[in-house]
Formats: sequence, C-alpha cells, structure tokens
Amino acid sequence: MSFEIREKDLLGRIGKLKTKSGTIETPVLLPVVNPAFQPIPPRQIREEFGFEALITNAYILKQRFQNEPVREGLHKFLNFDGAIMTDSGAYQILVYGDVKTNQDEIVNYQEQIGTDIATILDIPTGWRVTEECAGRTVKETLKRARRLSKIKRRDDILWVGPVQGGKYLDLVAKSAREMGRLPFSIHALGSPTEVMERYRFDVLLEMIMTAKMNLPLDRPLHLFGAGHPFMFAFAVALGCDLFDSAAYALYARECRYLTENGTHRLNELEYFPCACPKCNCSTPKKVLELETQQRFSFLAEHNLYACGAEMRRVKQAVEDGRLWEYVEMRALSHPALLQALKKVSKYKEFIEENSPSTKHSGLFFFDSLSLMRPEIVHYEKTFSQRYTKPGDADTLVLLPQTEMKPFHKSIQCKQVEKIIRQQLRKVNGFHVCFYAAPFGVIPNEIDEVYPVSQHETVVPPDSETVRYVAAQVANYVNRTNYRGVILVNDPLNWGKTVLSSCRDTCRTKKIGFAALDVEKVQVVLPKILMSLRKTDDLIR
Ligand SMILES: [Zn+2]
Repeated sequence: MSFEIREKDLLGRIGKLKTKSGTIETPVLLPVVNPAFQPIPPRQIREEFGFEALITNAYILKQRFQNEPVREGLHKFLNFDGAIMTDSGAYQILVYGDVKTNQDEIVNYQEQIGTDIATILDIPTGWRVTEECAGRTVKETLKRARRLSKIKRRDDILWVGPVQGGKYLDLVAKSAREMGRLPFSIHALGSPTEVMERYRFDVLLEMIMTAKMNLPLDRPLHLFGAGHPFMFAFAVALGCDLFDSAAYALYARECRYLTENGTHRLNELEYFPCACPKCNCSTPKKVLELETQQRFSFLAEHNLYACGAEMRRVKQAVEDGRLWEYVEMRALSHPALLQALKKVSKYKEFIEENSPSTKHSGLFFFDSLSLMRPEIVHYEKTFSQRYTKPGDADTLVLLPQTEMKPFHKSIQCKQVEKIIRQQLRKVNGFHVCFYAAPFGVIPNEIDEVYPVSQHETVVPPDSETVRYVAAQVANYVNRTNYRGVILVNDPLNWGKTVLSSCRDTCRTKKIGFAALDVEKVQVVLPKILMSLRKTDDLIR
C-alpha cells in the first residue's frame, strides 16, 4: 500500500503517501506549476514555501517541450526534487473541447518523463451538460481506465483514476464504484471547478460524498482544481486528501488577495490581514504602486503562503480532534459554505460510521449545527439501540443539566437524591437521568462516559437544539416502561419545551407525570413523594 493513515477526524485524515521521489504527508496542496511560465520557481516553492509536492501538466509539457523533459527527466527539467504529479490534458478538453493527443500517447509520455503521480486522459463531465452526455464521459473515462493496465510499463508510478459524472449523483456513484474496482493508487473527483466557481458548495458536497461512499476508503482522494484556502477545511472534513492550486497565481494576476475567509481585491484593502513575510513588510497601497510583474509576484507569493498556512491549521485541527469546530468556524465566512455544511445532515450516518468515536480532547458545541457531528449521532444511535434502564427503576427523575460535570456530582443532583432518601428511606425504584443539550437523555450511571462529561456547550441552547433534546426525552419515555416521570425544570426555563413534550408523552402512555421548578425542589419534591407514598402513583 502506498497510502497509510495516521490520524483521523470526521472523514479527514493525516496520512503518508509513498511516491518514488519521497513520502508526502496528506492532506496536501500541490501548487500548479505551468512549465511555460513560473511566477515562483519550483525550487523556491519547496525551499521557501515548504511544499513537498507540486502538479504540472503533461499535455502542456508534451506540446511545448516535446522530448526535452524526456531527455532530462521531469524533476531535473523543473528543478524540483520533491514529488511531482502530472495532469493529463483533461482540463484542456474541458476548456477547449479536445486535445491533440490520445490516451496511449499521454500515458507513455508520463512514464517517459518519470512523473511520480500520473493521470489517465479522462473526459471531464463539466457543469452545463445533459445527463446523457455526462453518462458518455463516465463510460469513456472508465474505458480508458480499464485500458491503462495494457499500456503502462512502469510499476513505480502512482496512477490516478478520476471519477466523473458531474452533478449527476447516480453517475458519480457508478463511476466511483467501477473505478474503485480497478487497481488505482489514488482517485480524483473530476469537474468540480465550475461548481466551485459558482459557489455551489452544496452540490460539491454531494459529489464528494457520493464519490467517497462508493470508492475504497483506504485510497486517497484528490479534489481537482480546489485551490482556495477558504474551502480546505470543508473538503478535508469530507475526506479529500490531495488538492491542487492554480488559484494562487490566477488570482494574483487579477489583483486578488486570498485569505482563509475569502478573497479581497487589492484596491479594497487598507491593511493586510496576514503575517506572512511579504505582508509583514508592506501595505496594500505600496503593493498597488508596484510594477505589474512585481505586484503579481507579491500577490502570488502571499497567496501561496496563505494556502500553506491554512492547510497546516486544518491538519492541526485533525490532530486536535477539533475539525468539526474548525469547519463550523470557516462555514461562517460565506453563506454558500454554511448552506453546504447544513447538507452534511444527509450523510451524518456515513460520517459517524467512519469517524473516530473517542478523542483525546473535549468537544465544543455552539448551536444546532453541532447536532450533525458524529459524536452526537453516535450517542443517539448507541443510546437508543443499546441502553436499557436498571430493572428495578420504575420512576424516572429527570434533572436539567448542570454546570458541574459529571452531572451526578452536582449539588442539585445530591439534593434531589437526599430528599428522595429522606422521604421514602430508599432510592431504589428511582432512576435519576439528566436532560442535556446537545445529547438528550443522559442516565446518571453513564454520565462519565465520553463525551457526555467532556464537552462545553452554550446555555440556553438554541431552539432547534431544545427541540432535539425534547424529542430525545419523548423517545426515551416511549421506549421504556417507567410507571411515572418527575421532571425538574431548569432555572433558565429552556426546558419548558422538554417539559411539555414529556408531559404529552406521559399522558399518551397513560403514566404518571409531575413537574416542578428547580428552585422549589426543597418544598415541592417532598410533597410529590409523599403523595406517591400514599397512592403509589404520581399525580396525573
Ligand atoms: Zn501575506
């Protein structure tokens, strides 16, 4: 195996990809180097900017330089000793409709120049195409992918099997399934460039997820043409491992300045929001006064620094187990990203199944977006499928979450238990559980299990989270056989939705229900318990 995974969070992973020119750590951004025009020389890209690998275009090399890279070898030709990936001309097919080469020629050429990672001559689906036409691109790309084993001669090059289908998800699924059966080392998702240019990150999410769900998960996935730092976190979280960026140079040419939160026009900036060596020593005004070529170099260099820095932050978030928090933060930089993030809910089960279930760090919950995160999905799944209440418990006492964690060590909980013991001289038969955002019901005896004790959340929770908690409480009461429920309302009264939902469930089930405010526990709880002692039932 050329790919080894070391750390995971969500579908994102930190891995090692072995190439014949060295091992590169993923997720990795490959700056696009145009062999005919290099604003930043490849050697500098590695030595100054710290990029271990780059991508260039085999088709352009072949058209412009023919045998020169074959004679010298690609690494010497570009003066770059890291790993080099080559694209095949598929992008040129997308832009110009056709290329002056064929699959066999471009496969042989990539082997002759000694690239490390090579791509078959796939047919990109594009955006404005009919389903029928998209189907043809998938079929032809698969045909070419199958032919690779008959034409390739070297075994030391990693081959990329691109997945096509565009916005037609059934086609993406079929393409990924078939491609995944062939012996490729890496896969790539084709045609996302236009989707990204239109800020249709919701469509992109569905394309990536469909590809991921149908490809072998142990192979790395390259997202073609994704070079803007503001979407790295999002794409890494969905399981993309390789990226290429021509954006650093293309944007620079148009006087655009990239940041992890979006794009600025140079003439609209008063200050540089960046600490890279370029921005530290200049101002937007000074850069605007530079000659065109110098300004271009300045911006290309800043853009590349910005891309590198964001990828490192994303990797650190994977390392810390905080990728979800990081993605949420980035999603707030543009409504299109937030809209896409909301669509994650469609795939939350798949993400949960493939995410680590315990972490070495606690979790931060901000709002109802967090309800999709794997830890919550995991808790809901295991709690509803596997948890059974203690056999002798016939009255459920529901307490609100407390600041203190674990909840059962809080003063409020101890006070309630003391009253029950004083009144009834026993606690058997009573089962103390908590209702807590964002988990739902947390039984006393499991409130130290990860992550119910290892999280911080906003109180009061937003209304969607409250409704989620209320639904969890109702589900729990419904599937258990308590004879009655005593609910203590929380001091901020956010639990009134929980209260009414719980009361309705008890009524429907025809079991006892009593509720009281937390500040009246001392006075009211003994009365409830007294009546319970007399009638052996709760007030209905
Ligand atoms: Zn900068």
